[in-house]
Amino acid sequence: MDGKVTLLLRPDAPRPIIALVAHDRRKDEMVEWAHFNRGTLSRCTIYATRTTGTILQAELERPMHLLLSGPMGGDSQLGSLIAEGRIDAVFFFWDPLTPQPHDVDVKALLRLAVLYDVPIACNRSSADYMISSPLFAVPEKYRQDRQAGPDYAPWAR
Ligand code: PGA
Repeated sequence: MDGKVTLLLRPDAPRPIIALVAHDRRKDEMVEWAHFNRGTLSRCTIYATRTTGTILQAELERPMHLLLSGPMGGDSQLGSLIAEGRIDAVFFFWDPLTPQPHDVDVKALLRLAVLYDVPIACNRSSADYMISSPLFAVPEKYRQDRQAGPDYAPWAR
């Protein structure tokens, strides 16, 4: 055992579709986290904002879907994917100590993840809990609920 946690997904399981985003001062932490979880991440389809994704692609030696850089609209693109039911989970290491030029986009992204009931981990311990959850291996259940349309959140009416 090398101490790495690898989630055993069924070979026929739909791949979790996840998004990875890290603000500048938290990119190193996300790289470290991604290395630790590279076995599980290898079984995911990954979207990432451009700078985060470019770094992670090189580190993990695997392709990812690159969105625009966060300040250039990447967070908004991710928000749209969430609204369309195309993302199962978001790992978003944001920086609570540094003002961001795209703060409104960050806020919108967080809002849409909550609205559409998409799990979103905003720090490392939450990310660890989320990626090691048995539910992470069965994305189809929640995906179906989300894609059911406006009825997904009866509490909102
Ligand atoms: P980046 O964007 O990956 O392009 O740095 C992250 C963000 O600021 O949301």
